[in-house]
Order: sequence, then C-alpha cells, then structure tokens
Amino acid sequence: MARTPSPRKRIEELRTLIRTHNELYYGQDSPEVSDAEYDALIRELQDLETKHPEFSDAESPSEVVGAAAAVTTFDPVVHAVPMTSLDNAMDEDELRAWGDRIVKGLGDQPVRYVCELKIDGLAISIRYENGVMVQAATRGDGKVGEDVTANVATISSLPKKLGKGSPSVIEVRGEIYMSTVAFEKLKAEREAENLQRLANNRALLAVPVNPRNAGAGSLRQKDPTITAQRDLSLWSYQLGEVVDGPEFVSHHATIEFLGGLGFPVNPEITVVDSIDAVVAFCRQWQERRHELGYEIDGAVVKVDDLSQREQLGFTSRAPRWAIAFKFPPEEKHTILKDIKVSVGRTGRVTPFADLERVFVGGSYVEKATLHNRDQVAAKDVRPGDTVVVRKAGDVIPEVVGPVLGKRPKNSQPWVFPTTCPCPLKSELTKSEEEADTRCVDSECPHQSQQKIIYFAARGGMDIEGLGDTTVIALADAGKVRTVADLYKLTFDDLASTDVFSATSAAKLIFELDKSRSQTLARVLSSLGIKHVGPVVADQLAEQFGHLDSILGASEEQMHAIDGVGDAVFASIQRWLAVPSNVDMVESLRAAGVAFDNVPKVSLGSTLEGHTILVTGKLAKYQRDEVKEVIKAHGGKAASGVSSNTTVLVAGEKAAAPKVKKAQDLGIPVIDGEQFDLFLLTGELPSGGAK
Ligand code: NAD
Repeated sequence: MARTPSPRKRIEELRTLIRTHNELYYGQDSPEVSDAEYDALIRELQDLETKHPEFSDAESPSEVVGAAAAVTTFDPVVHAVPMTSLDNAMDEDELRAWGDRIVKGLGDQPVRYVCELKIDGLAISIRYENGVMVQAATRGDGKVGEDVTANVATISSLPKKLGKGSPSVIEVRGEIYMSTVAFEKLKAEREAENLQRLANNRALLAVPVNPRNAGAGSLRQKDPTITAQRDLSLWSYQLGEVVDGPEFVSHHATIEFLGGLGFPVNPEITVVDSIDAVVAFCRQWQERRHELGYEIDGAVVKVDDLSQREQLGFTSRAPRWAIAFKFPPEEKHTILKDIKVSVGRTGRVTPFADLERVFVGGSYVEKATLHNRDQVAAKDVRPGDTVVVRKAGDVIPEVVGPVLGKRPKNSQPWVFPTTCPCPLKSELTKSEEEADTRCVDSECPHQSQQKIIYFAARGGMDIEGLGDTTVIALADAGKVRTVADLYKLTFDDLASTDVFSATSAAKLIFELDKSRSQTLARVLSSLGIKHVGPVVADQLAEQFGHLDSILGASEEQMHAIDGVGDAVFASIQRWLAVPSNVDMVESLRAAGVAFDNVPKVSLGSTLEGHTILVTGKLAKYQRDEVKEVIKAHGGKAASGVSSNTTVLVAGEKAAAPKVKKAQDLGIPVIDGEQFDLFLLTGELPSGGAK
C-alpha cells in the first residue's frame, strides 16, 4: 500500500511541482495543468504550511509572485513599485470572511469597495516619461519583469503620447488580453493552416486553447510584427510610480484619472459600500461573463480609500486590501480515452471524444463532439492525449485542444474509420465538396435509431418516455427498427425489456396512443425533412391542412407562401424520392396517426398586423407557448429581428444583441408586463415602449 508522504516531503514535492507549472505558465505560456488544478496545488501547499510553520520558507511559491522566466529573450526591467499578485476567494464565504477581516483591520470604519472584473490576461506596467511611452514590462516575479516595449507599442488602443499636464513620470498598470473575436480568428487561421500542412505532410502548429495563453504568447513574441497581427487589447486599472502627479485619496479617482488621460478603462467598474453589494456584483458577473467579448476569470474587489489601504498593508505577495473572487472553472484537463464516431439520422458520421469523466462548467462531461474529420486533424487531438475541455455556461462541452507537453511518446494521429460503426459495417463515403463523411446505406440501423429519436423528441411528436436511451435499448432488443414499429409496440414488448417497469411501459403505450392525434405541424416536422423545421411546418400545416396536400403541393403552391421558398420544395421532393421515407408516411397513416390536425384557436385579433419576437423568459409563458398565444391573438411570431419585426418583447435574460438590433432598427421594445397589456388592448404602452 502506498504510504502518505510526510508533511515535509509533500511540501517539498508541491513546491517543486508548482515551480515547474509556474515556468510553463508564465515563462512559456503553455501550461500543462488547468488553472483549477494549479489552484488546488497552491491551496494544499498553503494549508500544509499553515499547519507546519516550522517548514515555512520565504521563497516558497505560496509566498512569491508569479515567476521570473527561466529562459527569456527579453531584457530585465526592475519595477520601481513592485507588481503584486492577489489573494483569492474561491466562494462567497471566503469573500465575506475577507470583508470581515477588512472591517476588523480598520476598527469598524465604514468601507467603500471598488468592484472590478478580473480580466484573464497578462499583467503589464507601461511607463511614460514627460508624456511619452518609454517602456512596457511584464510582471515577472513582481520585482523584475521582461521588457516588452516594442510589442506593447503595437496595441492600437494604447496612447503612445499623453497630453499636456500629464505627470513627468507615470506608470500605468493593467491587463493585456485577447478579445474573444481576435482569439477565434487566430484559432481559425491556425486550424486552416494545419489542414494545409497536413496535406503537405508538414509538422502541425499548436492551436491556441484559450485567449489568455494566446494573448500572453502573442505579447511575448520576439518579433513585434507578429504581436501587431494579433489584435491585443488593454484595460488599465492601476497606477505604479507617479512623479509630479496629482494627489489622490481614492482608487476610483485614480481610475477616472487614467480614463481622462486616454487609457482604456473597463466600463463595468462599480463602487459599492457593503460586502452584500460586493457579493451581488460577483454573482451578477459570474452569470453574465459570456456577454463581454473578452474572458474574465473572476472579480477583483479593492478597498477604495487609499489611507485605509495603507492601514491594511501587504503580505509578502499580495495586498491585504484587495481580493480576487474566482469563478468556478469552465476549463479542465482530462484524458481523451478514445475518438469514436456516431451516425446521425441523415447518415452524417461525426467523431466524438470519449473522455475520462471530468466535472467542468457545472456538470460532469464524458463525451464531446469533435464535429468532423477536418476538425480532429486541425486540432491534432489523439487518443491518449491529455486534452483541455471547456464548458462555458449552457454551452455544450468542447475539446479545445491537446496539452502537447503531456502527449504520450508512442502517440499516433487518429485515423477516420472507413466503415460504419453499425453491425452492417457499410463503407463510408466523403465527397470532395463537403467536410462531412456519410454512411449512405439506407438500411443502417444507427441512422434508423436516430430517426426514431428525432421523431419522438420534444420538438417533434413529443412522446414522453421515449428518449435516446429507451430508443437504443428497444432497438438493441430487436423491438423497433423503424418509426413504423413504434406504433406496433405492445405492453409485453416493453415490459420484457430491462429499461421499462410495468408502470413506465403502460405509460409509454398511453403516450404513443396519445401521439396519434398530435398536430399536423408536429407530425410534419418530426419526419426530419431538411428545411422543414417547426416554423416552416407550422406555416405549411396552416396553409394546406393535410399532410398529403403538403407532400403533394406544386412548386407554385409552395411559392405562394410567405417565407417558404425553392429550398423547401426541392427538399421535400428529395425526401420523397427515398422509398423508405414514403413507407414511413404510409406506416404512420396505417397506424392511425392524424394527418389533418390543425387546431384553430382564436382569442381575438388584438395583435393583427404585428410580427413579434420574444427574447428571454416571460413569467407567464413557456417559450413555445408564447408563440401560440401570439398567433391566437392574430399576430405572427418571429424567430429573429428583421425589418419586418414590429415589436420585441424582452423577458428575463433577454439576448442583449437582439435588443440592441431592435433598438437600432427603431423597433419598440416592451417587457413582460407591457406585453400582457398589449395582448389585451393591441395598444403599445403610451409614452413609448422601453
Ligand atoms: P491571480 O491571477 O489570481 O491574480 C492576480 C492578477 O490578476 C494580477 O497580477 C493581474 O494580472 C490580474 N488582474 C486581472 N484583472 C485585474 C484587476 N481588475 N485588478 C487587479 N488585478 C487584475 O494571480 P497570479 O499570481 O497572476 O496567478 C495565479 C493564477 O494564475 C492561478 O490562480 C492560476 O489561475 C493561474 N496559473 C496557472 C498555472 C497553470 O499551470 N495552469 C500556473 C500558474 C498560474
């Protein structure tokens, strides 16, 4: 059995490990562990050092700032005023405990806090003498940084000369970062270049995994012309040395001063006077972090009053008057056990990552799509790699790229399979024009299963109790092969499989029966015809009233319908040309599925002439329900903002870009309560909408 190392040994191990990670992160911009894993190592070291003060060491990585790069091509710069790090609060309790320490340290004086976003970039100190930028340096170990003047000078938003009245010496400190747009552009360029390299048998380039590392790597380029192409940005948030400058009494006054001199100052900086308000700021930005266009990994809270700061002072590595509130990680490292492929209902074969289970972005992740063969090649992810997995908010998990430093020695590029993973093992095809690989075997059982899943899904026939797992289990048990088989299922068929209890079997039989009278729009959209999603299906159902009339409609008849064009007609024809699709329609008819259920609900005509888009959640209605309500009142429900939109209803968590676009187009924007009134009266709020 492995023995637990002694505290002293573990402390030494941790210090060595953390120093290695510091060098990889700060020195090479190429970390081998995620920030969350790094933070856990630091925490473990801090805990052991607190418990065992006899092993304390002023040079321990828990006591020092960042790291001096072991190998650097840049000249050293000694900071006139040291650049410190920040202590961290990992949750609200730790944040409040910091607040308590501040109040106690100040003998219960009132405290004002400045709340700022914690920009996930690279700290910089930029020095101006007599109004001219003379030097820019990284933080390094806090005392000595690297001279990156030529590179920083390429940042367009940074003033290179200051106006009259600027102090004779002023050091501006802030964070250099790469915006999300600039990062995506760089990533796309690298991936495209890798595909070319692949074709020419050349070594692949590392694809940047996140804006922080890409930004830091771009700034620390030997050749500033490369930095210039990377479109870096800056937020300034602090002063270093100042000679002949104004006297300041508060932090927020220094920030206003920086803004006045023309430095970019983050617009979200907020001054508050209670720890409750600090917590609210942090919570708010944890929720809204993806609205920003650049990455933040937390919030930084600073005591505003500069004389209070002096009373509180510093520890060896960080000020006591500030704290970084860290958000839960959205990025983790894990092992890519294998790359497998799945077959969709249209035969598209998609590679996906089979991952060692990892908790990231609020849930466990075991699988993540890799989109198509080009993506796998361009990212150069291989089975056995340690990979960066990212799950931001509600967004589906993504394998961002490999951690090259951890790649196993014998690793080989992944090769796309040539046959379908289904038992028929049919040959896969890939045309030159498209990135996708396909299984074109109409008998492919995997495609059939996906068709059934799509058919029964919430957006289609909405058959409760018939999800992915149950469909696959029923298919594996030989009970269903096509959609047609669903309506032949008996209670005994279901109850004899492992996945159904007597109750759930009875329930599914009931649900299947109920679905026979589903609306025509849902029947149509559940068939999976390209371009015939719920909105088009709704229009077609309303116009033609029967499935046979829709499938048999002429090109002219289709054209006559607003918004339904050539693509829909052609797509229906292509779909009908596949015999198994026609069989499916006939089997549904034989099973007694209604082809003509078009509910006519009319609650009035107050919204007649209006095309209304709803964004965000309305307290009274579910998302789909509100569209029905609009239609029932004679209005049209839109799916995006366009010049045809007459009203935008912005509920809770409304999409900011939609609201902005509506405002730009002069479209009235109303909230949920105003919408209720609008429904009743057909009148928009007097005195104008919001
Ligand atoms: P930190 O990132 O926790 O906080 C300090 C830094 O925050 C400052 O130096 C500054 O650059 C930045 N910052 C951003 N916005 C700011 C604002 N508004 N006001 C003030 N400062 C602001 O501490 P650190 O010492 O820079 O780095 C430690 C962190 O770096 C770790 O917690 C980890 O997330 C990451 N790290 C990761 C690895 C790795 O291997 N993955 C290695 C080393 C460090």
